[in-house]
Amino acid sequence: MEEDIVQIMPDEPFIFACHSGVACFNECCRDLNQFITPYDMVRMRKSLGLSCEEFLSKYTSRHIGPESGLPVVTLKPNPADGLTCPFVTPEGCSVYNDRPASCRMYPLARAVTRSRETGQLMEHFALIRESHCKGFSEGKSQTPLEWVENQGLKKYNEMNDLLLEIISLKNQKKSGPVDFKEELMVHMAFYDLDSFRTHIFEKGLLGEFNLDERIMEKIKTDDVELLKLGFEWIKRVLFT
Ligand code: SF4
Ligand code: SF4
Repeated sequence: MEEDIVQIMPDEPFIFACHSGVACFNECCRDLNQFITPYDMVRMRKSLGLSCEEFLSKYTSRHIGPESGLPVVTLKPNPADGLTCPFVTPEGCSVYNDRPASCRMYPLARAVTRSRETGQLMEHFALIRESHCKGFSEGKSQTPLEWVENQGLKKYNEMNDLLLEIISLKNQKKSGPVDFKEELMVHMAFYDLDSFRTHIFEKGLLGEFNLDERIMEKIKTDDVELLKLGFEWIKRVLFT
């Protein structure tokens, strides 16, 4: 598969559209080594109505991220069907409204850096042209900033940028994989929110944080708030 990656400015138009009428429909939903971010998992799990344990065991494999040294999960492809994504159907993505950020972002890639001058995060984009993808002949023009808006990526980017900050702190503090105890803590706070919640409410984890009642009430049911708390816990306890 040929691939051409070029930098594109946030307000620079590019031509692309993807829909069920393209000849390559669903071609990109196979043979992917697809990392799932913690926020991706919150969204997909909610869409499927599964517990963390059910989602993790049915759909994912666990690894240590080669660059971050932190635990990550990838989607298990279907070996009986050309290594397709477990969520692809002849009609398209079965979790479309809650599909992962990487699926929404394609054919763009996004990176963020922090300005040394202002401390603000700056977004950078690249356009990935793969030979099998016919979407570049579909004639719809938009900029990367419009793509982010139209694909519902704002919340994903906000949550995934919190994760990037932790990876950066971790790599400043120590390179290579985290130790086994740290791995268990990070996996629970990032991917096993049901266990994290049980540890907080039944085993007194985070007691020293003196969380106010409003937060405690919220995290009983709100997985996004619980994940933000998990990021904060890991950041404070392991990497600052
Ligand atoms: S146009 Fe590109 S993104 Fe859309 S289905 Fe085809 S390969 Fe996938
Ligand atoms: S989650 Fe949906 S869009 Fe993403 S690879 Fe799987 S089927 Fe395709």
